[in-house]
Amino acid sequence: MSESFNIANGKCPCCGARLDLAEDACEGKAQAPLPGDFSLCSYCAELLQFKEGGTLEQASIKSLMELTPADHKIIEKNQKWILANRKK
Ligand SMILES: [Zn+2]
Repeated sequence: MSESFNIANGKCPCCGARLDLAEDACEGKAQAPLPGDFSLCSYCAELLQFKEGGTLEQASIKSLMELTPADHKIIEKNQKWILANRKK
């Protein structure tokens, strides 16, 4: 079961969509997003990262390099899902 968290200042830097809700993609890990945590825009599927204060920015190359192959799989799976189900 995934939990949702409210984001105060969430806005996608890519498509400008307002993102006021985060859903935890990791099973068994229910916690509010922390700075540095990854997120996906539910409109354009861009990979984002939380910053201090709950705003979002595009994930940095550096943090992408630190991801494990398993992380990449989860992200890819979620991006595919978003692109297939996104709001028109
Ligand atoms: Zn977006």
